[in-house]
Amino acid sequence: MSATIIDGRAVAARVRGEVAEEVAAFTRQSGEAPGLATVLVGADPASAIYVAGKQRACTEVGMAAFDRRLDADSSAAEVAEELERLNGDPAVSGILLQLPLPEHLDGPELTGLISPKKDVDGLTPVNAGLLSLGRPGLRPCTPMGVMELLHDVGAELEGADAVVVGRSNLFGKPMAQLLLGESATVTICHSRTRDLRDVCARADVLIAAVGRPRLLGGDFVKPGAIVIDVGMNRLTPEEAGNKSGLVGDVDYRAAVERAGAITPVPGGVGPMTIAFLLRNTLQAARYHAGLERMFAEVQPE
Ligand code: NAP
Repeated sequence: MSATIIDGRAVAARVRGEVAEEVAAFTRQSGEAPGLATVLVGADPASAIYVAGKQRACTEVGMAAFDRRLDADSSAAEVAEELERLNGDPAVSGILLQLPLPEHLDGPELTGLISPKKDVDGLTPVNAGLLSLGRPGLRPCTPMGVMELLHDVGAELEGADAVVVGRSNLFGKPMAQLLLGESATVTICHSRTRDLRDVCARADVLIAAVGRPRLLGGDFVKPGAIVIDVGMNRLTPEEAGNKSGLVGDVDYRAAVERAGAITPVPGGVGPMTIAFLLRNTLQAARYHAGLERMFAEVQPE
């Protein structure tokens, strides 16, 4: 059996096209385009590339992009001040604090200063809580992108055994919540899980977000399972066997022979994150314009 290859680039392009159309309609109606502000502290080259990609993606769908840069030695108070300014700026619909921050700064603490209503990464305690309660809010982009891929490939989630390997706040936990919200039977694995292979091999839907190259071998995959590989591990092109040097957490060559459908790395989950950052920014703009119902239970600022 050879698996259906899930084309994340194509699905992301479709989502971005839909967002662009909705942005045009929103802008006609409200007179102002949605705006995303990115905040980059320091000059980490990988982070600078990610931020540039997000800025470009915004402009491509007709949104306004605000690029805020702070020195690597900025204090927590200086970052907080910038976030406060953006929280109060009506032209800014969504704010993204690029992680990781320099060592002396506390990422979760500073992220928590973003207004939940502009938290387009879905990482503030309020949005994490709303997700956990099953209430409308802004959801983390990568798990939302994975849900879109699962829907696109026609996954039947109700009652399905779904296994998520990785329990980060950024991905594993919100992914599990979203799957639970669609009535899958969800197991979350992590570094202390016993018999990881046996747990994974029971999964109808197997999602890996670990950060260890090819940790999950072919025998971790139940025949016919849907496999979503979130891992992005950089090797040399020789080690990876491809030009980009990127490999996932799943041994793709072995897994593709057993899975029913599988995402490649690169070209699977990766492109979905920015697509959902754009979708979230539009959703936040619609909320601020009174067009979207969210945050009914959140105190007004
Ligand atoms: P993270 O915060 O480092 O979390 C990794 C998780 O994997 C932890 O829960 C850890 O368990 C678990 N783990 C580590 N070794 C393990 C093992 N041998 N067996 C089972 N579980 C193990 O990472 P993350 O931020 O969630 O990201 C995970 C991967 O996804 C990375 O490669 C990252 O680059 C990628 N990613 C990609 C995108 C994208 O495509 N846009 C977005 C987000 C993340 P403990 O909790 O017990 O330590």
